[in-house]
Amino acid sequence: MKHLILGNGPAGVVAAETLRKAAPHDEIVMVGHEDAPPYSRMAIPYLLEGNIDESGTYLRKGADHFERLRVRQMRGRAVALNTEKRTVLFDDGHFESYDRLLIATGSHPVRPPIPGVDLPEVQTCWTLADARAIAAHAKPGARVLQLGAGFIGCIIMEALAKRGVQLTVVEMGDRMVPRMMTPKAGGMIKRWVEEKGVRVVTSAGVQRIDRGSEAGTDAPLVVTLSTGDRLDCDLVIVAAGVAPNVGFLEETPVHVAKGVLVDDRMETSVPGIFAAGDVAEAPDLFTGAHLVAAIQPNAADQARIAAMNMARGAAARDTKLNGVLAINVLDTLGLISSSFGQWWGEKPDVGGSGVELVDEARYRYLSLQFKDDVLIGATSIGLTQHVGALRGLIHGQVRLGDWKDRLLANPLSFVDAYVARSQQPMALAR
Ligand SMILES: Cc1cc2nc3c(=O)[nH]c(=O)nc-3n(C[C@H](O)[C@H](O)[C@H](O)COP(=O)(O)OP(=O)(O)OC[C@H]3O[C@@H](n4cnc5c(N)ncnc54)[C@H](O)[C@@H]3O)c2cc1C
Repeated sequence: MKHLILGNGPAGVVAAETLRKAAPHDEIVMVGHEDAPPYSRMAIPYLLEGNIDESGTYLRKGADHFERLRVRQMRGRAVALNTEKRTVLFDDGHFESYDRLLIATGSHPVRPPIPGVDLPEVQTCWTLADARAIAAHAKPGARVLQLGAGFIGCIIMEALAKRGVQLTVVEMGDRMVPRMMTPKAGGMIKRWVEEKGVRVVTSAGVQRIDRGSEAGTDAPLVVTLSTGDRLDCDLVIVAAGVAPNVGFLEETPVHVAKGVLVDDRMETSVPGIFAAGDVAEAPDLFTGAHLVAAIQPNAADQARIAAMNMARGAAARDTKLNGVLAINVLDTLGLISSSFGQWWGEKPDVGGSGVELVDEARYRYLSLQFKDDVLIGATSIGLTQHVGALRGLIHGQVRLGDWKDRLLANPLSFVDAYVARSQQPMALAR
């Protein structure tokens, strides 16, 4: 049995290791197309801060780790898939055959169609190559404009601030992290960031980016905002969203929506072809609707499940994903925030209710969202301890019974609710 793994990020690496354990005698080939050993993108901010060097981002430290596991590493970009012949075509023209295929190609940052977005001082922050380019331009005092204040945008802000740049963040939404924070929470994060000296412009976009020389200034770039403001910049960082790497699946029977659609075994519409990580859309825990949950722990969990189902042999078994739970934990210039599950809540006419606790002065916030007596979502700011209990209640779909009313009266008692309801086996209703 030959397993071909496309992608050598966290999903590809965990799949290769799991396969080796579950199928000791199978052939495993793992492919990536970047100029580095398998690494973790989430370590890039630490690299930019200067806390680690590039080797600190590597997922596995031993130089011969994959050799010892008999995982053949290959460099190349998959450009086409033939599901009849079970082959993948790579950009150097060679074909690789497979018995089982894992698509773990992750996603890529999207550059919005703005005039000037391809100028060399306009960078995304996704790969080690991007990090090297940013480090070259983001010197102390440099004028940096960051386009987008989503999850990735907030994560890299800390690294940029530590590099001593003058930072302006421009966000199309009406608040920071609009796709994972309630209006109140997003507004609090904005205020926090502004207090730390970052200029934040919300409900605005970048209209164009010009060379300073053509716009009559000595700055490398001039950025024009939809508000009419024109800003001199040394560097623009685009953090405006990502799209799964699925181009090579065009004209194949592998079903793709935004990402590759998989079932709860991480198998695609084509038997024998699996997908995991940022490229995969798996069923959501609550709704069953397909969802890309683009964080590293999800990539690892999904890869483990995919690999167990790809393997045949003594240790292999049918392994299922218990639904994807959206989880985001953010450290924005020292302010910790999190969102879990359906943080935006459910409509009252289908059993939805919620409660919001706000302490603006101390930057503390908690929103709990229920469907009937089950906690389905939460958003928090300033809670650094015990948020695992929120996750536990949501992930376990724990029936709260009379604890729901207690939580509505005092949302901070969620740890007590967790202990009371989920530590007693009989209290778990589902
Ligand atoms: C700056 C930054 C900070 C982040 N911080 C966090 C964080 O704090 N917490 C968190 O949980 N997540 C974080 N993330 C997200 C996290 O990195 C991703 O969820 C994770 O990398 C997903 O793993 P993956 O293996 O699915 O995809 P990736 O890590 O993207 O790996 C995909 C691999 O596939 C390869 N590939 C792509 N296309 C092809 C092709 N056609 N052929 C062959 N190979 C291909 C790529 O070279 C790459 O090696 C961060 C991401 C970034 C960019």
